[in-house]
Amino acid sequence: MAKDKMVDRVAGIMGTPEMIRNIGIVAHIDHGKTTLSDNLLAGAGMLSKELAGNACWTDSDEEEQERGITIDSANVSMVHEYDGKEYLINLIDTPGHVDFGGDVTRAMRAVDGAVVVIDAVEGTMPQTETVLRQALKEHVKPVLFINKVDRLINELQVDGQEMQIRLGKLIDHVNKLIKGMNEERYKAGWRVDAAEGTVAFGSALYNWAISVPMMQKTGVSFQQIYDYNKSDDPNSIRELADKCPLHEVLNDMVIRFLPSPLQAQEGRIGAIWHGDKTSPIYKSMINADPKADLAFMVTDITMDPHAGEVATGRLFSGSLERGMEVFVSGTSRKNRIQQVGVFMGPKRLEVENIPAGNIAAVTGLRDAIVGSTVTTLEGMEPFESITHASEPVVTVA
Ligand code: GDP
Repeated sequence: MAKDKMVDRVAGIMGTPEMIRNIGIVAHIDHGKTTLSDNLLAGAGMLSKELAGNACWTDSDEEEQERGITIDSANVSMVHEYDGKEYLINLIDTPGHVDFGGDVTRAMRAVDGAVVVIDAVEGTMPQTETVLRQALKEHVKPVLFINKVDRLINELQVDGQEMQIRLGKLIDHVNKLIKGMNEERYKAGWRVDAAEGTVAFGSALYNWAISVPMMQKTGVSFQQIYDYNKSDDPNSIRELADKCPLHEVLNDMVIRFLPSPLQAQEGRIGAIWHGDKTSPIYKSMINADPKADLAFMVTDITMDPHAGEVATGRLFSGSLERGMEVFVSGTSRKNRIQQVGVFMGPKRLEVENIPAGNIAAVTGLRDAIVGSTVTTLEGMEPFESITHASEPVVTVA
């Protein structure tokens, strides 16, 4: 699908918060976050299938690829069909090999759900714990993708049964971490559960994934997965990828089990805003009301050679439109919004209006910094500043 067609479809769904999922992909370095992102973009027609698995999607623009430039922190909007309905997935990328903690922390402020990627062979690592902790702190719900299952099968030479046991142990371990970090959320049902469908596993490199719901739908069994991976026929793994495409399994899981802004905003606002819970702005934020006062949280600022500073963030209440006059927390003069847009890979595309519940990119906020609250309501209590969870590592018996 061409990018310009995609923008029309994206704009069409943006006003229906029930059909939106704002998500981030988080992982320990080298566990496969970039390869997974490539797959999702290829699945949405935004990157050729041949490139998925060996190209960084933030390099997908031809010119940028030639010049070797990687855009620092971008987000991308994709349309995915589930159960005959079209959903909008706003995926916020979290590259951050340099400033890992900081990037993840900011991204978590913008989203409602997180896909936690873990290498099946390495298991959970320190950064897996950090990202999980940050997600829970920000009231961002996790689902799990266990990646590199091909390595588990081919390098570690486990048999089908051993593969299942290892995956089960990994899931148990993640649940112990969640419980240790935030028992309240754990008890509220934020555990990951293979039978329920909040866990998928597969290989981002070979473009396949499976979950229990997908096994039921496709009839593909554990043993078959194992056999496809073990086969000497190079076409075998492609057959598996055709039967169980990674992007479909992942996006289905995201849509089914991660909350829409309408479901999420009450919990998220509770975690990041400490103002009066009887006030109209509180009500409009938890209801993602597009007609109320504006409440926009800036989570990233990048430089655009043409448009200047672009502020990206999460819109909790109201609608963003060109020409709006807004207050920026911590400053006294008003700023005027010049352009509002969404990201498609590295490209920012202008739209007329962005309603509450979305991730948006705006220009004209001269006084904004990362962490600013942007609002039309004079004297609004700003969002909590973005801090990085740095408690000690949880010990799991
Ligand atoms: P990131 O640092 O989390 O973004 O990880 P990358 O996506 O860059 O992947 C790190 C390395 O692992 C690369 O060499 C990938 O080709 C490789 N990789 C990613 N996914 C898989 C997988 O499913 N199986 C195998 N065998 N390798 C993978």
